[in-house]
Amino acid sequence: MAKGKVIFDYDRCKGCGLCISVCPKDVIALDKSTINKKGYHPASAVKPDECIGCANCAMMCPDVIITVERG
Ligand code: SF4
Ligand code: SF4
Repeated sequence: MAKGKVIFDYDRCKGCGLCISVCPKDVIALDKSTINKKGYHPASAVKPDECIGCANCAMMCPDVIITVERG
């Protein structure tokens, strides 16, 4: 069971990948199948069941678009 849930404000993501680099569980990846309003592949939770709710990703995001809910 996932201990946390990450929610992205997809259209504000600039695809910088910083959140991906700090996730200890490899939960996040850029979604190459879509392009957001800014013209980037947005970050998305590809392994949501692995999330431990540590909030590293939310702290690292320069645009503060990630919300972490702890379950
Ligand atoms: S809260 Fe932690 S485990 Fe969950 S996606 Fe963010 S960095 Fe990864
Ligand atoms: S750190 Fe923020 S802006 Fe950068 S890819 Fe992750 S969610 Fe998008």
